[in-house]
Amino acid sequence: MPHIDTKSQPQYLELANYPGTSFDVPLGQYSTMKCGGHAFCVYSPKNVDDLAAFRRINTLPETLLGGLSNVIIRSGGISGVVIRLKNVAQCNVSERSVFWAGLRNVDACKMAASQGYSGMEFLIGIPGTIGGAVAMNAGTCGQEVADVLDWVEIMDDCGVVTRVDRRNLNMTYRSGGLPADAMVIRACFRLMPSTQSEVSIKHTQLLLERAKGVRLPPNVGTAGSTFKNPDPGVSDGRKAWQLIDAAGCRGLCHGGAMVSNEHANFLINKGHATPEDLILLGENVRRRVFDFCGVLLEWEVKIIGDEPSGANAVLLRKKN
Ligand SMILES: Cc1cc2nc3c(=O)[nH]c(=O)nc-3n(C[C@H](O)[C@H](O)[C@H](O)COP(=O)(O)OP(=O)(O)OC[C@H]3O[C@@H](n4cnc5c(N)ncnc54)[C@H](O)[C@@H]3O)c2cc1C
Repeated sequence: MPHIDTKSQPQYLELANYPGTSFDVPLGQYSTMKCGGHAFCVYSPKNVDDLAAFRRINTLPETLLGGLSNVIIRSGGISGVVIRLKNVAQCNVSERSVFWAGLRNVDACKMAASQGYSGMEFLIGIPGTIGGAVAMNAGTCGQEVADVLDWVEIMDDCGVVTRVDRRNLNMTYRSGGLPADAMVIRACFRLMPSTQSEVSIKHTQLLLERAKGVRLPPNVGTAGSTFKNPDPGVSDGRKAWQLIDAAGCRGLCHGGAMVSNEHANFLINKGHATPEDLILLGENVRRRVFDFCGVLLEWEVKIIGDEPSGANAVLLRKKN
């Protein structure tokens, strides 16, 4: 992937010595797709106050990422600041459990279990962070974040934090309904008292079920389900994987990208895929499914970053 000539950018000097920043970072190393361009700058704040102070002085466009388990980052990279919240155990577990958005789902679930609280077990096998889970309204096995969320705290680009009740978010299937550019800082989940052993048993059952459902070859990159399941009314109740399968796309390849043989709605990186291989293959699948049954699949995976045309060589845009 092309490097970003960071030092020639005027904004480099503004941020170079700012604590928590690093430059020209290859994002593929963090992405579950195992590929992706470089970020001009990655900033990881220690806490809310640090993040607020940074957002007040930063003039570059910002992209917020969590576990990078639902993104394809184009080869041109991200010509602004990627903000990644650290996986720190800032939380308060009770019937109204408050989790820091950078916390990984698996760690949040284990904390709830250790205190004997039940309700968020479905998140145990979903990679990524609490912030990403809220933003995507992540879910599985008939449950989603919207079912247990009480409120979120979001930060605007001046560093001001506002608490928003779940009822004021337009949460729908795989969408958190957040206001544009809202950064989730903390999320409060409604849980029920249980026991550590009962919650741990549920975790084990769910993880076993998931492992039985999709057995991917070891070390492949993936972002899980690529496309949202269409409205049952337009697809005769068929899920995205069924339409992809019926359209003959299982096993289809482009460069190093492939439609998984194990789960037709998973695109996988066989080891040498570029982000553009994955995007072109995904678009090919959408076209074939549309030609086959007239249903246009919608990407669930977020495609972000610049085209590989060297767009990041131009001077960085200012925020707004
Ligand atoms: C093997 C595998 C299995 C998966 N299984 C499931 C599944 O069963 N169910 C499911 O729903 N998903 C599944 N996924 C997809 C993915 O794990 C979820 O969408 C997850 O919630 C994404 O969280 P993340 O922290 O990785 O977000 P990222 O991938 O980093 O970001 C995704 C989006 O969320 C936004 N975002 C991230 N953090 C914040 C924040 N703090 N505030 C505001 N916006 C934010 C980003 O800007 C981006 O638009 C799977 C992925 C993989 C690789």
